[in-house]
Amino acid sequence: MSDVEHLRSLLKAHPDFPKKGIVFLDIFPILRDPVAFETLITHFVYRLTSHTIPNSPSKKVDVVVGLDARGFLFGPIIALRLGAAFVPVRKRGKLPGECVTATYEKEYGSDSFEMQADAIQPGQNVIVIDDLIATGGSAKAAGELVTKRGGKVLEYLFVIELTFLKGAQQLNAPVYSMVKAD
Ligand code: 5GP
Repeated sequence: MSDVEHLRSLLKAHPDFPKKGIVFLDIFPILRDPVAFETLITHFVYRLTSHTIPNSPSKKVDVVVGLDARGFLFGPIIALRLGAAFVPVRKRGKLPGECVTATYEKEYGSDSFEMQADAIQPGQNVIVIDDLIATGGSAKAAGELVTKRGGKVLEYLFVIELTFLKGAQQLNAPVYSMVKAD
């Protein structure tokens, strides 16, 4: 079994969570297994540092942006390994100081993400990371925040992509997802 197949086998599907009709894919079993967690982090870091992988970003990453909340589990570790900054994107009202805001659509109504205005400098190369992309709405809003501060998204990274929702098509930069689920 390959490393990615092993990581995929650890994901647990929870039918009818958080509500009826939704199958929630849980990434936490990977974090419970230190070797699996290390493998996951190494998988992403290797992609961002080895320029032999086809279509991987060729530029040095300055900033890793992690999405509230499970992007905070992977983003800071990857940022440290890359020698890059980590910047959180949080739900509205959680961050102090001047913030930039972007709104995204959820199933019922809309929600807003914020990022501290001085967190990204114009021209910096950015990776946006989250555990899962569904419709792509939240990742798109995070990309807008990066662009508002003059940053450039090199790639969006996800552990899981729900391909049938076509969220990647919403995004303005290449998408890499370790596991594709349909
Ligand atoms: P989107 O904005 O792409 O529609 O939704 C993605 C967001 O919803 C991510 O922040 C992700 O954490 C969360 N999410 C939606 N469905 C799932 C799921 O099945 N498993 C996990 N782990 N997160 C999910």
